[in-house]
Amino acid sequence: MIARGGGTECDQTVKEIDAEHLMATRVNNSCNETVGGATRASILFGVEWVRFQEAPAEGACMQDKEHALSDKWQKSHALFARAQHSLAGGVSSPFRTRFPVPLYLADGCGCRLRDVDGNEYIDYALAWGPAILGYRHPKLVAAVAQAAAGALIYGEEHELEILVAEKIQSLVPCAERVAFTSSGSEAVQLMMRLARAFTNRPLILKFEGHYHGWMDTALWSYHPKREDLGPRSGTHPVSDCPGQIPAAAESIVVKPWNDAALVEQAFAQSAGRIAGVIMEPVLCNSGCILPQPGYLAQVREICTRHGALLLFDEIITGFRIAPGGAQSFYEVIPDLATFGKAVGGGVTLSVITGRHQIMELPYTNGVAFGGTFNGNPLSLAGALAALEEISRDDGAALRRANETGVALMEGIRRIAQERGLPLLVSGFGAAFAIHFTPRSELREYRDVLDDDGDALRRFLRRLLAEGIHCLPDGRFYVSAVHGLREVEATLQAIARVL
Ligand code: PLP
Repeated sequence: MIARGGGTECDQTVKEIDAEHLMATRVNNSCNETVGGATRASILFGVEWVRFQEAPAEGACMQDKEHALSDKWQKSHALFARAQHSLAGGVSSPFRTRFPVPLYLADGCGCRLRDVDGNEYIDYALAWGPAILGYRHPKLVAAVAQAAAGALIYGEEHELEILVAEKIQSLVPCAERVAFTSSGSEAVQLMMRLARAFTNRPLILKFEGHYHGWMDTALWSYHPKREDLGPRSGTHPVSDCPGQIPAAAESIVVKPWNDAALVEQAFAQSAGRIAGVIMEPVLCNSGCILPQPGYLAQVREICTRHGALLLFDEIITGFRIAPGGAQSFYEVIPDLATFGKAVGGGVTLSVITGRHQIMELPYTNGVAFGGTFNGNPLSLAGALAALEEISRDDGAALRRANETGVALMEGIRRIAQERGLPLLVSGFGAAFAIHFTPRSELREYRDVLDDDGDALRRFLRRLLAEGIHCLPDGRFYVSAVHGLREVEATLQAIARVL
């Protein structure tokens, strides 16, 4: 049973959007691989990276339907052309170099976005995750507006820090103590440092395909090429970018995920040297792959037996799969965990939580940790409002998001089945991904390498033209304000483009 998306004051706007022309701008197209001004450069970080030439502001020389497609984004093209003269790469994150052009957005409300060209989208990117309550949620807007009317930052203590820490404590099983940082990448750095300091061991075990931010010590074997992987039982860290400190590889052990025997093997190969095992408890960054039944508990037991810490990177699963994160959903409690994205509903905030003794190390043992913007009032005001909404009625908002997502997943599977298409939908409701693959099951990153990337890109491009906005790797994030109407419209659009 799907509840109608609610909880925002956007209904009027949403109705207007629907009535006017959300889907009316549909372009019947069969686009091919290039659009004027852009060529596909590489697939990096699982994202299609596009090398743009100077994108012409207008009058791009394109043919027929190709032209019609690109016409939809003329203002975005023009802004992007201008941006490239001032902003490195023309965008604020390389992840945003989206095909056929980085979208310049004008507004968002509920689960809808509108770009500068007036195109409207049902949004399943949710700003790469944070907008779990949709855009312009009235409670968040009011909380942030009130905070913005006061001092923006103190660099000293204030009561909101305690209120948010207590709220997180009440929701997240491992949260004996809480610390605030600003980005997920930063939170992971602190978590890994705490693990090394607590155990007095040098190594972190991570898994292929898992993303833990872009820092030197974490960006290993995120999306390695097949030829760089090596055998499953003999893996080594593969650098994910030029410029990375090569010696950082010495602090990392890498294994394929979802195989407890390989975790045992890592501990046997590096006896007494592994400080912690870090993972996304659901592998969201490589296609939303679920843990095998019992796998998380097995890794928990192996860590405990070897005196190592279990580190959950819940920057995606946190406040999305359940109010207590994957650790409460799967009932496996890590020693430390990081949160980001949904924790603030859109404000800048990341969190490290975990066992008291470990979390106190910066104050008892000199483990360095800082941040000018840690615990800033604007972020914490937004986070408190978001967490109150997320935890209200025993987590009703996330139940709704996950139920809506499951309905979408089932609908997409049904359409693919009717058409006899080799398509697999993987994940949990509020985060799932589409794979064009002959496989019937995905267990680890290596399995995703069999996906048909070109089929996915064609699908996503057509879907965008249909007014459905999702992440460039085929991931869908579903918010608490998506509802039956969006599910129906999305499935209709998918049926048209598949
Ligand atoms: N960890 C995970 C699981 C993530 O998905 C991300 C970002 O997508 C990060 C860490 C890094 O977070 P941020 O982009 O806020 O630095």
